[in-house]
Amino acid sequence: MDQLIEDLRVALAPGGVLAGEEAAAYPRGPWTRLGEPLAILRPVSTQEVSTILKLASAAGVAVVPWGGRTGLVDGCLADGAVALSLERMAAIESIDATAGTMTVQAGCILQTACEAAEAEGLFLPLDLGARGSATIGGNIATNAGGNRVLRYGMMRDMVLGLEAVLADGTVISAMRSLMKNNTGYDIRQLFIGSEGTLGVVTRAVLRLRPAPVSQDTAFIGVASFDGVVRLLRRLERRLGGAMSAFEVMWADFHDLVTTPPARGRSPLFGRHRFYVLVESLGGDAVADAARFEAALSEALEDGEVEDAAIARSLAEREAMWALRDDVGQTSRDGPIIAFDVSLPIAAMEAYVDEVRAAYAGRWPDLEAPWVFGHLGDGNLHILVRIPPGAGLTERHVLEEMVYGPLPAVGGSISAEHGIGLAKRDWLSLSRSPEEIALMARLKHAIDPGGVLNPGKILVPPPR
Ligand code: ZN
Repeated sequence: MDQLIEDLRVALAPGGVLAGEEAAAYPRGPWTRLGEPLAILRPVSTQEVSTILKLASAAGVAVVPWGGRTGLVDGCLADGAVALSLERMAAIESIDATAGTMTVQAGCILQTACEAAEAEGLFLPLDLGARGSATIGGNIATNAGGNRVLRYGMMRDMVLGLEAVLADGTVISAMRSLMKNNTGYDIRQLFIGSEGTLGVVTRAVLRLRPAPVSQDTAFIGVASFDGVVRLLRRLERRLGGAMSAFEVMWADFHDLVTTPPARGRSPLFGRHRFYVLVESLGGDAVADAARFEAALSEALEDGEVEDAAIARSLAEREAMWALRDDVGQTSRDGPIIAFDVSLPIAAMEAYVDEVRAAYAGRWPDLEAPWVFGHLGDGNLHILVRIPPGAGLTERHVLEEMVYGPLPAVGGSISAEHGIGLAKRDWLSLSRSPEEIALMARLKHAIDPGGVLNPGKILVPPPR
């Protein structure tokens, strides 16, 4: 190991190797466990990433890629491994306004990329709570989802080309910017969502859209889940594909983020069972606003919704989104687990009731799980207090409560956060034995030494 560190110090640019006290002093956030890596490596180029992987492979040392380190499934945990942080590869290399593409290095912060696109009159639609810390490479490695999947898809749908480095140091350069390229296996997609287990993403070509001219946002109170679903279908129909977000909060999440000590205030006066945050993006400010308002008025007249507030300024719109993003309130009195299940909308209400009843039955003194999510694309977030003093057994019971009912309704244990280490033991609830075996064959074929992020997604084979 010492020899590997020595070799890396010689091979990498100054500041490329943090070991010992420097590694221990590395900043750690509240959400993501990083473990105790043997060293933290900070390459400045694809060539350096390749060198790191070659040397680590030869030394038989595991490599755990790090992006923004804001994931929620222990994908960055690097005990006994070297961590490979892309933080010094953060450049936006170019923006092609004619083609509508951006070429970017993996360590670029999502928000920085979005702002750079905006400055050119373009739009990178990926939007999620960790926008200020998550990186493009991390978004690709985890196939990030977020608030606008309904209209623009997941990260998978925004990557036109990428560059990745394999465990043996081979650089796979597929930096193309074509929308259509049917020339055999789609190698990009192999790396997207692979959570750093098949290769280290170093650069990408992203698809941009024209910047929207109009952005209409409303906060809506609804009396029943059936009303929520009918509202979703109505807006899909009436807004003609312009709807970009349909976020739903169950009442107790809304109450949590609108009651002190939370700083937010509800845009609505009355109490409702469900709250919907709708956003629509379009190309004609006046006509789009009129259509948006008309659609909501009809929903009010038909009794589908109880009340609605339309954002009249940027500040009002941001205040509405801030409620949705104020997830931190759920952990102010103790640690939580943030689940991100996916299931058919028709099964959601009964599923949530079942989970909450099971939780209340076992831990009647704790707050009920908070529920909100990207309902328009079938994704719910369930935030659950970890009972004080809970050990592995209680944690397992808790996970069983959330995951157990999903196979019967065709749901998934992860809509967008990924599997990492945290959900690995539950993968078989969402994937067949044949699927998991194929994943293992791919992993072995591409990384036979098991060097890249070993133990994440799949149980590593015995050595
Ligand atoms: Zn989410």
